[in-house]
Amino acid sequence: MLYEDLAGRLTGVQERIAAAVARGGHEQRVTLIAVTKTHGPDAVRAAWSAGVRDVGENRVQEALPKMQAVLEPVHWHLIGHLQRNKVKAVDHFTLLHSVDSRRLAEAVHEHGMDRGRPVPALLQVNVSGETSKGGFTSAEVEPLGEWLCGRSGITVQGVMTMAPLDAAETVLRGVFAGARAARDVLRGLGHPAAELSMGMSGDYEVAVEEGATMVRLGTILFGARGT
Ligand SMILES: *Cc1c(COP(=O)(O)O)cnc(C)c1O
Repeated sequence: MLYEDLAGRLTGVQERIAAAVARGGHEQRVTLIAVTKTHGPDAVRAAWSAGVRDVGENRVQEALPKMQAVLEPVHWHLIGHLQRNKVKAVDHFTLLHSVDSRRLAEAVHEHGMDRGRPVPALLQVNVSGETSKGGFTSAEVEPLGEWLCGRSGITVQGVMTMAPLDAAETVLRGVFAGARAARDVLRGLGHPAAELSMGMSGDYEVAVEEGATMVRLGTILFGARGT
């Protein structure tokens, strides 16, 4: 695949992000993460050439060979579920977006202690409570944040969430504001928690208006995935 118009699409998306920041009034910087899952290394290279520095993958077993094939020093983000027996794979990523259970948080913490360097991670919050989605409920965030204060193998950099697909704008806003509130709870407990990873191709403008600092964009940059 050629990804010919990627630079043009990126420019358009960056303009819409800037406008959404202005409308939202949160004055945040936004990192665009190009989600290259199901696409080959050529998509990563095309994104790099167009100026993208952050790339997202949702499966370790797909990401690792792609990393081998790509020489450009992109920052790799793990945005999908991580099995505990693959926790060492976090060493290959800049940021783990998807800590979705206490058991995984514990395993990540232990790995950070073993390697002598904390693992930067986001807590995945399932604000909408959809049963099909993983993550912590909003009510679980405060006790979880307290529990994590004693676990220095993991650095809580913020919160990640996914909104329901094709939801009405008011629903989206509620979900994104809920994630922002969860992030602020973690901050209040003393975690660095500056990041808010939310917004995909269909909803990133609303997410940015609600304070997203990282948007994860696949389809809008690379076209529809062939599954
Ligand atoms: C696939 C994926 C995205 C990107 O979705 P698009 O709708 O293609 O932009 C974002 N976040 C996660 C967690 C994903 O798995």
